[in-house]
Amino acid sequence: MTLNRRSFLFRSGLNAFGLAAALPFIHPAKAEAAAPSSKESARSCRPKDPLTALIDGNARFADAWQAKNKATDLNERAQVMSNLWLDHCFLPASVLEESQSPWASIISCADSRVAPEWIFDAAAGDLFVVRSAGNTPFDEGIASLEFGVEVLKTPLILVLGHSNCGAVRAARANHSLTPLFDQLIKPIQANLVPGDTLMSAIKTNAQATAEQLTTRSDVLANAVQAGQLQIKAGYFDIASGKVSIL
Ligand SMILES: [Zn+2]
Repeated sequence: MTLNRRSFLFRSGLNAFGLAAALPFIHPAKAEAAAPSSKESARSCRPKDPLTALIDGNARFADAWQAKNKATDLNERAQVMSNLWLDHCFLPASVLEESQSPWASIISCADSRVAPEWIFDAAAGDLFVVRSAGNTPFDEGIASLEFGVEVLKTPLILVLGHSNCGAVRAARANHSLTPLFDQLIKPIQANLVPGDTLMSAIKTNAQATAEQLTTRSDVLANAVQAGQLQIKAGYFDIASGKVSIL
């Protein structure tokens, strides 16, 4: 089903409830980055430009997130948030059951406010996600990313820090919690720069992590060298809903 037809049907359904008028029109050109390439069948939603697709998806989320915060009642909030996923390629469950073709890998914090599919307006089958407090890539996490690149041919890895990260705050304060948690914050502490603010430390940690991926994994390094993979770092601001690429 094409975007326009999907949007039309969705809006037709909303019209029955008198809601569609509240939804902004989405120009088809805006959805170009998220649309499957012509070479791929309906078995994949892989966009031509994964980084642009992530940025566009986050822009849709941030718009809805900010509008939701201004909404005065439940109906208004529902109308604003229902705009998400309109501008998106969906795969049927029968396809997803058999295979996956994620077009971006994300390393994010385990923080409950930083759900990647949510903040990038993505659906099942889109994102290959590794999460741990402080978005630290432990060996198992890097092995997962290697699987994503080697087997699933994921062309992009984004290491995503976020505002007010408790793990980075704990690392800065050298806050001991449990023996395993102490191990978790050690790699973050290694990335800290004296005198940095919390926000700077979070960004530095994400950037350092992105850089370390290729030094710790030959698979990832080779994929970057071959032009098959790009690795980026980003920062998610919870208040605005916006992700900035660092
Ligand atoms: Zn965090």
